[in-house]
Amino acid sequence: DIVASVMKDWAVERGATHYTHWFQPLTGSTAEKHDSMIDTDSDGGMHFAFSGKALVQGEPDASSFPSGGLRATFEARGYTAWDPTSPAFLARSGGTATLCIPTVFVSWTGEALDKKTPLLRSMEALSKQALRIVRFFGNTDASRVTTTVGCEQEYFLIDAELARKRSDLMVCERTLFGARPPKGQQLEDHYFGAIPPRVLAFMTDLEEELFRLGIPVKTRHNEVAPGQYEFAPTFEYANVACDHQMLLMETIRRVAPKHGLFATLHEKPFTGMNGSGKHMNWSMTTDTGTNLLDPRDETHTNMQFLVFLCAVIRAIDLHADLLRASVASAANDHRLGANEAPPAIMSVFLGDMLEDIIDQLEKGSPNRTRKGGTLDLGSRTLPNIPRHSGDRNRTSPFAFTGNRFEFRAVGSSGTAAWPATVLNTIVADSIEHVANQLESAVGAKPTPAKVEQAARNVLRDLVKQHRRVVFGGDNYTEEWHAEAEARGLPNLKDTVEAIPVMLAKKNLTLFKRHKVLTKPEVEGRAMIFMESYVKRSQIESEQMVLMSRVLFLPASVEHQRRMAEAVAATEAAGIDASELREALDHFSELANRLRVLVDRLDEADNHHDEDPFAHATYIRETVHPLMEEVRELVDLLEVQVAAELWPVPSYRELMFLR
Ligand code: ADP
Ligand code: MG
Repeated sequence: DIVASVMKDWAVERGATHYTHWFQPLTGSTAEKHDSMIDTDSDGGMHFAFSGKALVQGEPDASSFPSGGLRATFEARGYTAWDPTSPAFLARSGGTATLCIPTVFVSWTGEALDKKTPLLRSMEALSKQALRIVRFFGNTDASRVTTTVGCEQEYFLIDAELARKRSDLMVCERTLFGARPPKGQQLEDHYFGAIPPRVLAFMTDLEEELFRLGIPVKTRHNEVAPGQYEFAPTFEYANVACDHQMLLMETIRRVAPKHGLFATLHEKPFTGMNGSGKHMNWSMTTDTGTNLLDPRDETHTNMQFLVFLCAVIRAIDLHADLLRASVASAANDHRLGANEAPPAIMSVFLGDMLEDIIDQLEKGSPNRTRKGGTLDLGSRTLPNIPRHSGDRNRTSPFAFTGNRFEFRAVGSSGTAAWPATVLNTIVADSIEHVANQLESAVGAKPTPAKVEQAARNVLRDLVKQHRRVVFGGDNYTEEWHAEAEARGLPNLKDTVEAIPVMLAKKNLTLFKRHKVLTKPEVEGRAMIFMESYVKRSQIESEQMVLMSRVLFLPASVEHQRRMAEAVAATEAAGIDASELREALDHFSELANRLRVLVDRLDEADNHHDEDPFAHATYIRETVHPLMEEVRELVDLLEVQVAAELWPVPSYRELMFLR
């Protein structure tokens, strides 16, 4: 009651009248239901009140949230429970402030119906196992190991006025049509370029809002595609970082319109341009402040680091399928495996220095750490700068970047919580395996020599068994795809292939063993992810049919009429119009083909299947190819119809902000 009352005072002094339990249902966004803190007195007066009970638990009638069969709609009861590890905050919009309490969301029977509960459980599992390694190496001070996460958020900004004229952008957050412009990103002059003033004003405003929410943003810059930008907050404990990630996305969307901008966080707003990701930087740290993935100077002597490193490598090798599935969505399908994004094949990049140590580990006893040295820049006025011992690699889905791993396959619009949950769980499982081996090798009376020897033996075996998942080359090439196949690494090309692996026995057992998710909880999730794929795809194809019928076909008919009139007028004037007639012929044929195709797509949209897995397969096999054909035709028409008749702004206009 005291804590609640202090929170209330803090919030009321800053203009709040309402509070809400804020949570992350399985829809992929956030949910809030506001309750007033105003109470009436028995004598007719009013005062603010907020009890401990209201702080700790809420009971939203949440029957309309997806539960994947975990709960029938008639069993509407759900609970929200305060997550005190994530700071409460004030959401300001609509001229008012609301006290937001981060919570988890569970069913009446205690099943997790949100993304936060399993994340917290997975952090617990990882802490438990990682502590064993830390203890094994003689550290008795640490009492907890926490996962840290820092996400780099990419997004696109489009002039709001133009965006409003594109219902595909408004409804789907991506363009479903659009001919490739003559100038796209070929010149690569946007990346790290000067930030346009309007965008900078937006960014500054956004930063201020984020600071007010307690989100420590740090880096801002232009990204590769025209109109593409990035924001990166400083890393935090995983649960807080994932909450902040949701808030960051919401705030981007909310602040953009104030600057006449429309922000899209979709993974692929423009075909042919770079897509957006959310690089998830991830590490583990003790509560005494040691980053367990910091290799330090003489890395080959840092056995504890090497044990953690190899445990992560093992985790990725054994559970590449699950990690891949954790980033699967209809939207991310457009990005993963495209030429500028990591492929769907999970592999680990280590860099020269660590690969060299891995080589040594495999042989038995590492005895040197490769050094980067310094770079002499050749001018007396320039400093000699220290050089890293290896280059970076931008193409790997899972790269070691100095003192953390960077998981780059995460999509820009998704939540970080689910991939973080999966990563924590598979690493916890792997660390458990390694800890078992180490502990049994040294027996009851460990000596420093025994510890050293046990670590070496275990590491040698780990490297031998799991090295195949380590790859330092260019992940974008065809050769890597062939090589990965030869190495036996899974390549789950899209969501329809990826989601079902969640239900594999090994994965159900994994989640259960570490008490992260029960079998019904995993099944429910797989179901919801698949349904979401189906629904999003359906919205897109229906949107396509609609736009074709009410925008592009009428524009084409008008263009055709003009051409026909021109043919008639030319001939009436006694001039040969045969070429014009031919062009008209060709054009009307295109338009007719579109009409037929759109009808077919419309028909395909009517398909229904109770089983979302079967429906998703139908969509991938039948609907998506039709959508591609429709788009191709519309894009062809776009570059033939008179510009003044084309009913929506083109890529050329959308992508270059002024
Ligand atoms: P780059 O684009 O070079 O990969 P950025 O500076 O854009 O790097 O982003 C790096 C991200 O990694 C930041 O969010 C940063 O806070 C985060 N990060 C740094 N150290 C850690 C760590 N130990 N654990 C998790 N995230 C980290
Ligand atoms: Mg970056």
